[in-house]
Amino acid sequence: MTQHDTFDSLTRNAFDFLERGIAEFDKTPKYSVIHFCAAVEMLLKARLMKEHWSLLVSRPEQANLAKFMAGDFISVTLEDCRARIRDVAGEDIGDDTYGSFRILANHRNKMIHFFHPEMDSDEKARAQIVAEHCRSWFHLHRLLTRWNDYFQDYGDEIARADRAMKGHRKYLSTKFKALKAELDGAREAGEAPKACSACGFKAAIPDSLDDQIASLRCLVCDHVEVQVELECPHCGEQVVMTGEGYGSCKACEGSIEPENVADALRDKAAEHTAIKDGDDSWGPINCGTCENYHSVIRRGEKYFCSNCFDTFDNVEQCGWCNELNTADMEDSYWSGCNQCDGKAGWDQDD
Ligand SMILES: [Zn+2]
Ligand SMILES: [Zn+2]
Ligand SMILES: [Zn+2]
Ligand SMILES: [Zn+2]
Repeated sequence: MTQHDTFDSLTRNAFDFLERGIAEFDKTPKYSVIHFCAAVEMLLKARLMKEHWSLLVSRPEQANLAKFMAGDFISVTLEDCRARIRDVAGEDIGDDTYGSFRILANHRNKMIHFFHPEMDSDEKARAQIVAEHCRSWFHLHRLLTRWNDYFQDYGDEIARADRAMKGHRKYLSTKFKALKAELDGAREAGEAPKACSACGFKAAIPDSLDDQIASLRCLVCDHVEVQVELECPHCGEQVVMTGEGYGSCKACEGSIEPENVADALRDKAAEHTAIKDGDDSWGPINCGTCENYHSVIRRGEKYFCSNCFDTFDNVEQCGWCNELNTADMEDSYWSGCNQCDGKAGWDQDD
């Protein structure tokens, strides 16, 4: 078996587990939780495998190829998966994404260790499982799209899983109906619920930051996301970006990147005046959450990252490189920021 064969069999196996997790929900919710969670972990491992197979082993320094191929190894944990994707591949999957997978894994652990005889008939517990699946699939689907270079051969599997998930949402309709009064109330208060990107129900209550940025919280599945509205830089149609600065325009299929989002959100007149007045608080600013370079835009009194869509109340200057950053810059003269190594790094180079 070659490296590609192992990647391929792991990925196909993951989609098999995912489909099974969705299909068996009605009859055996317990196995649905276990299989769905395994699928998520397997796809993260498949991504790691694209860096190196030994990263799937709990202690890579002791990795042995023959043993690995025989399945005789202790596998990496979900937490380590995230850390290795970040440290080796240089990509953070983000707190919201990791959080949704973590909830899934905790639920799975509970299912494995404690017997739940009432599970099959407990309507509320079942709705909770489907809500967790919806949120995790939303994040997983986005990762697979972002990792298109690695998963482009699995377009059919991804589309099939997406269709299955849309059917899976029907288990949330009872909860949606029960929320009718609350949703009507929000509508009357001027906060018309929008369609949730995770579960599809029109139950996401917007909380506007300004005319282009809103944060939404879904009352059905608890999914939280930030949406930005902008004009497509290619065709001029209105586009809604959900949760991050990467996506594409539905009208022209042109790709949209954080630079386009930043450009659409930038108050150029205010920036210009600020520069003239010697006020450097309008940027450029580095993000402390996703560690992206110059992706943070000032919006009035708030700061917003066009890459990870995180919002901040203030920015600080790095004591060493003088760049603005949304992270805490308390010890930055010595230890630096996410863009420099500070004095400590400088001394080391000598
Ligand atoms: Zn939802
Ligand atoms: Zn367009
Ligand atoms: Zn960011
Ligand atoms: Zn710095």
